[in-house]
Amino acid sequence: KEEEELNLKKFSSTGRIARLLAHEVKNPLTTIVLSADQLQMELPENILQESGDLIEVIQRNCNRINQLVTQLLESTRFTELDIANHSINELLDEALEHVKDRIEIKGFDIIKDYQTEICNIDVDAEKVKIALINLIVNAVEAMPENGGKLYLKTYIKSKQCRIEIKDNGVGIPKENLERLFEPFFTSKSSGSGLGLTNTQNIILSHGGSIRVKSEENNGTTFLISFNLSS
Ligand code: ADP
Ligand code: MG
Repeated sequence: KEEEELNLKKFSSTGRIARLLAHEVKNPLTTIVLSADQLQMELPENILQESGDLIEVIQRNCNRINQLVTQLLESTRFTELDIANHSINELLDEALEHVKDRIEIKGFDIIKDYQTEICNIDVDAEKVKIALINLIVNAVEAMPENGGKLYLKTYIKSKQCRIEIKDNGVGIPKENLERLFEPFFTSKSSGSGLGLTNTQNIILSHGGSIRVKSEENNGTTFLISFNLSS
């Protein structure tokens, strides 16, 4: 428990540092780009022929940094929450609806085990749906073409509304577990590595919590808790 709280602190300060750094990087980066552009215009033709490629390397890589920094700022941006009372089962179903096509194409089974008592939480529905969609997409991407099983469970425990999203996919190697929520951490060739960062920010900003259990080759479970609305 103590360790968990420590982790939360570490993560939220990581988010703050990431934002600060992103902001600080933008100004010098702009100066570099402008200088490179100016060099390109002002260098004599013969030198440009010899070293023009180098200027393009500078420009291309600056653009790349700029993209990354912009993504980072967008994924950690704090916007006011639009809080209302929602049924957790409905939120989860609406999130699932967004990913349904992909699940059907791959022939995955969806196994629902929903709390039958009313289980309502006070949250920003759009944000929480984004968080749930990110988790479902990750599960889908982790599962094999055939025999994929996605378990969705909701239940009430200790006055909290809990959600479990479980897959029988590739699982997560131990050494990656602690890096999952870091911005840009990805094991995918074209992943952004911002899905879980964003998801965690959303859940923490509602006073909720998120944990993960995983075993390599055996699947992964994400556990989310929100306070029940009173
Ligand atoms: P991305 O999906 O773009 O890679 P995420 O932040 O959503 O970024 O996830 C980060 C990494 O966490 C993934 O690249 C993957 O290695 C791991 N991961 C997340 N969810 C799962 C899952 N359900 N099963 C296996 N690995 C996962
Ligand atoms: Mg993802």
